[in-house]
Amino acid sequence: MTDLVILGESMVELSQQEPGLFRQSFAGDVHSVAVYFKRLASQADRVRLMTAVGHDSASEGLIKALEEERIDTSLVFRHPSRQLGLYSVTTDKNGERSFSYWRSESAAREVMLLFREGTQSACDGAYSPCGLAPRPDMFFFSGISLAVLAPETRPAFWELVSNLRDQGTRIIFDPNYRPKLWPTPDHTRAEYARAFTSADLALPGIEDLTALYGVKDFTAACDLLAQFNIEELVIKDGPNGVYYRGPEERFLEPVSPIERVVDTTAAGDSFNGSYLAFRSRGLRPREAIARAAKVAGVVIQHRGALVERGRFAALLEE
Ligand code: ADP
Repeated sequence: MTDLVILGESMVELSQQEPGLFRQSFAGDVHSVAVYFKRLASQADRVRLMTAVGHDSASEGLIKALEEERIDTSLVFRHPSRQLGLYSVTTDKNGERSFSYWRSESAAREVMLLFREGTQSACDGAYSPCGLAPRPDMFFFSGISLAVLAPETRPAFWELVSNLRDQGTRIIFDPNYRPKLWPTPDHTRAEYARAFTSADLALPGIEDLTALYGVKDFTAACDLLAQFNIEELVIKDGPNGVYYRGPEERFLEPVSPIERVVDTTAAGDSFNGSYLAFRSRGLRPREAIARAAKVAGVVIQHRGALVERGRFAALLEE
């Protein structure tokens, strides 16, 4: 059995259906990674979402939604005064989507404080993996997870990551760069350098690496990331294929381009979750990448991050 802990933020999503009418759901990059991991992993494999919510009905709704996907909520901490972050998606008459966010005061920003309060009495060190007992096999976080952590709590986060790694947990990082969440690109690069240095597996998209480091292809991306000694790299580039570089092999796996892309939300996140699930099932990297690309291909032919659960398995068979 594999035990995966994913740290980050789930939000309330309000998606406009018609003028004045919004449909409510829950979403976030790590939320999607958790959902697709659990849907595709073996039944015994476990995923725990490490985040914080409030005491309001939206927070209850999120917990229920996670439980419906059989995501473990034992690391979902309750903030005494804050609530979930929220965003809305509206689509104009040309089909262009625009997003508005209300997340700067969300509960998830303080997850490290709540983690310490919630677990310190049982553990010696405030940020020790003991708070996550049993120690997970894998710990996943993204650039968005990092960006939203209250900056004064980042040292605690790095302490936890470093302790986990020392004890044998695989650290997994996807940069998922969102410029609006960072004060400057220099701040981002400084934090990402720590993240890449800590990572055993990194799953960057070329677009993010172009925006932050100016690299535009797989070769340049590998050259850039070589300085961090990351054991396994899985580099995504939309329909242009996925490049893998690991201790035993390196290859470019082609991706069949999807002609009718409906919505690219969660392309990378669904890829990440399913790649981890297929690897946990014992698939070799190439097979896991091919199957994860197929999942992402299904996801981008649907609106929103999460393909309806009842239809998902059938769509994958098509
Ligand atoms: P990220 O969101 O992390 O930048 P990408 O945009 O590269 O990631 O997309 C993640 C994965 O989704 C790709 O590796 C690919 O498998 C799939 N994908 C994205 N766009 C397309 C497309 N147009 N056709 C087919 N597959 C795609």
